[in-house]
Amino acid sequence: MLAARLHAVRQRVAAAAERSGRDPASIELVAVSKGQPVEAVAAAYEAGQRAFGENYVQELVAKATALAGRDALAWHAIGSLQRNKARDVARIASVIHSIDREELARELDRRAAGLGRRPRVFVEVNIAHESSKGGCAPEGLASLLTAVRGCTSLEPVGLMAIVPDVEQPEQARPYFAALRRLGHEHFGPRCALSMGMSHDFEVAIEEGATVVRVGTAIFGPRTSAL
Ligand SMILES: *Cc1c(COP(=O)(O)O)cnc(C)c1O
Repeated sequence: MLAARLHAVRQRVAAAAERSGRDPASIELVAVSKGQPVEAVAAAYEAGQRAFGENYVQELVAKATALAGRDALAWHAIGSLQRNKARDVARIASVIHSIDREELARELDRRAAGLGRRPRVFVEVNIAHESSKGGCAPEGLASLLTAVRGCTSLEPVGLMAIVPDVEQPEQARPYFAALRRLGHEHFGPRCALSMGMSHDFEVAIEEGATVVRVGTAIFGPRTSAL
């Protein structure tokens, strides 16, 4: 069941890549396992999935501990982060998608340095200026990026966004395109772009996503809220 859904999502990722003239291998699928039992993560791992995304640090720690020792399993921190959780995140996550302010970047940098780690990081942008969402304002991106680039134990690779919750995936296209333009402006054409979720990842890929974060389309509805 889970393996079949994972396979179907992989097929859709590949088809969207091919439609837009891109190499399917250039798109990373992060399986968002928040709210799913650790057994579901283990099953997805058995089915070949290696990158998992978690929003809540407590849940990230619990799952990473339970699944420690699995070869090449990579954790992505994708939720809004508090500074006091920076050490756990720096210890566990190989990729952090939600850098949205300078103080957080500095604290993660300090913790990563102390652990001898250097996670890849995305700067999260509030691309539609939604008051309900995290991420830095597009206007503040240049100065935040200057700060992040000064963090020697973080490797900035690109931008991340959670686009507005629209009814039709097609309606999300302008936001994905806007993030791509912003990314190219600040990182050049090789900017990594973390955008697209279960509802809209195909449109995101058509607009240049290099990382898609897909939860329910792989795991089904979330069970345990944390
Ligand atoms: C929950 C979440 C996802 C996955 O959402 P689905 O709709 O289940 O695919 C992706 N990104 C972030 C930041 C999330 O919080």
